[in-house]
Amino acid sequence: MTAVVNIFKRTLSAIVLEDDQTVSIRFGILVLCFFSTAIATGFGIYFFIKGMWPLVYAMLIQAPMSVFLFFYCRTNRPEACRVTYLVLCVSVVMIHFLLTHYLGNCGSVAYIAAAILPNHFFPVLQKKYVPILDALLILSINGIFWYGLVQTPVYTGMNLTACRLFIINCALLVCSFELYYNAMGQQLVKARQQARLAQAAREASVDALTGLGNRRMLEDRRQELEQSAQTGTPVCISMLDIDFFKQINDTYGHDVGDQVLVYLANTMHLFFRKSDILVRWGGEEFLIALCQTELRQAEELMERFRLTVQQAPLLLSGHQIHIRLTIGLAMLLPPHRGLDDTVRAADARMYQGKLEGRNRVITLD
Ligand code: GH3
Ligand code: MG
Ligand code: MG
Repeated sequence: MTAVVNIFKRTLSAIVLEDDQTVSIRFGILVLCFFSTAIATGFGIYFFIKGMWPLVYAMLIQAPMSVFLFFYCRTNRPEACRVTYLVLCVSVVMIHFLLTHYLGNCGSVAYIAAAILPNHFFPVLQKKYVPILDALLILSINGIFWYGLVQTPVYTGMNLTACRLFIINCALLVCSFELYYNAMGQQLVKARQQARLAQAAREASVDALTGLGNRRMLEDRRQELEQSAQTGTPVCISMLDIDFFKQINDTYGHDVGDQVLVYLANTMHLFFRKSDILVRWGGEEFLIALCQTELRQAEELMERFRLTVQQAPLLLSGHQIHIRLTIGLAMLLPPHRGLDDTVRAADARMYQGKLEGRNRVITLD
C-alpha cells in the first residue's frame, strides 16, 4: 500500500508545470486508472477460471488500456486528464452492458452510479459539461437496469447474490478510495502551498546575493533580541564595512566585487555560531547580532574575525584580493538603548574606525 501511495506521490512531484487544482485532479484520475487496472485484472482472472471467454477478452482490453491511460495521464498534455477520464467512463459503461448481457442484472447499476461521483470530485470537465455527463451516466444506468430485466443472461447458474455483492463492494471500494485520494490530493496541495508560503517568507528576509539575512530579518528578530537583553542575556551588535571596496570594484570589476561579498558572507557563516544573526545591511556593510555575548567577548571575537579575513586573501583568476574590515561594536542596553539606538551606536563607531585609519574594531566612543 505504501509503495502504491509512493508511486502516486512521485507522480505528483514529477508534475511541476501546473497549478494546484490540476495536480489534485490528475491525482484523482490516476487513482481511477489504477483501480480500473486492478479490477479488470481481478475479474479477468475470475472469468478465465470460469471459462467465460467473451468477458475475458473484454478484461484483456480493459486492463492494458487502463495501464496505458495511467501513463498517458501522467504526461503534461493539457487534454490528458479529460481524455483519460472520458475514455474510462465510456469503457466502464460498455463493460457493464457486457456484464449485464452475459451475467444478467448483477450490480452494474451500482457501479455506474459510483462513476458519477468523480465527475463532481475531480472537476476535470468544464462545469457546463458535468450535468451532460451525469445525464449520460444516469441514462446508462436506466438502460442497463432495463436490459437486465428483459434479457436472459448467456451464462446462467451463477450465484447472482454473491456476484451482486461483489460488484457493489467494488463500487463502494472505488468510491471510498476516490474520497480518500481526493482528500489526500487536497492535503498535498495544502502542503505545497504552505511550503511555497514558507519559502516566500524565507526569501523575503534573505539577501539574494550572499544568502545572509536582510534588514527585514533583523526586524523579525527584534522582539527576541530586545527581550533577551532585557532579561539579562547580553546581546551585541556589530557593524562591518569592507575597506576601500570601491577600489576592488574599480580594479577587478563589479563581478569580482560580488564574489568578494559572497566570500565574506561564507566566511561569516563558518566563523559565527548558528544562533548569531548575520545580515547584509546594504552594499558592502554587514550587521552581526551576537547573542549571549558580553561586549569584551564580542570585541575579542570581532578582532579574531577581522584578522582571519585579513590573513586569508581571496584568490580570484590569479589575483590575491586582500579584504580588510572596519568594525564598530555596541551592546544592547534596554530600556535606555533599544535595538535601533544600538545599531546607530555600532555604525557611529564603525565610522569612527574609518576616520582613525580603518582595518580595526572600535568598541568605545
Ligand atoms: P570605505 O573604506 O570608506 O568604506 O571605502 P569604500 O570604497 O568601501 O566605500 P564606498 O562607500 O566609497 O564604496 C562602496 C562601494 O560598494 C560602492 C558600490 O558601488 C559598491 N557596492 C555596493 N553594493 C555592491 C554590490 O552588491 N556589488 C558590488 N560589486 N559592489 C557594490
Ligand atoms: Mg560602506
Ligand atoms: Mg567600505
